[in-house]
Amino acid sequence: MENIFRNFLKRGKYRITPERFEILEAALDYNGHFGADDLFIDLKNKKSPISRATVYNTLELLAQCDILLKRNFGDNITRYESCNTKAGHDHLICLECGKIIEFSNPKVKKLVKEVCEEMQFDFSNYSFNIFGKCKDGHTHHFEFEDSHSDSK
Ligand SMILES: [Zn+2]
Ligand SMILES: [Zn+2]
Repeated sequence: MENIFRNFLKRGKYRITPERFEILEAALDYNGHFGADDLFIDLKNKKSPISRATVYNTLELLAQCDILLKRNFGDNITRYESCNTKAGHDHLICLECGKIIEFSNPKVKKLVKEVCEEMQFDFSNYSFNIFGKCKDGHTHHFEFEDSHSDSK
């Protein structure tokens, strides 16, 4: 991974800094999906002096060289996920509690492949999200709405 990233930075004439590799490591260690702010807070807790802007643009670069996958779960927050954790899974997103459930079904991949072949489309990536309500049974929801907007 480090070499992939280093070569990518070289090719793109980006500066190769230790900060970028610290972010790479933290991103690969992160379990599950994370937003740039999640990772920034994580690094900050580890007393890292890396700035938020560096986290943001480094994650963007990591996504460009396919080390991280970019996910959008319909709430306008870009989330990332390491490409070496369970590759090829898809997501169910609960619209009530925001829970993200992962699933993997080979039929999805097969369908993507079939469609691309049929349409003679040069595949690079796909995104398959199912939105709905999870089985936790939400009776009272959105009570956290206020604190949510305060924290921004
Ligand atoms: Zn839910
Ligand atoms: Zn996932």
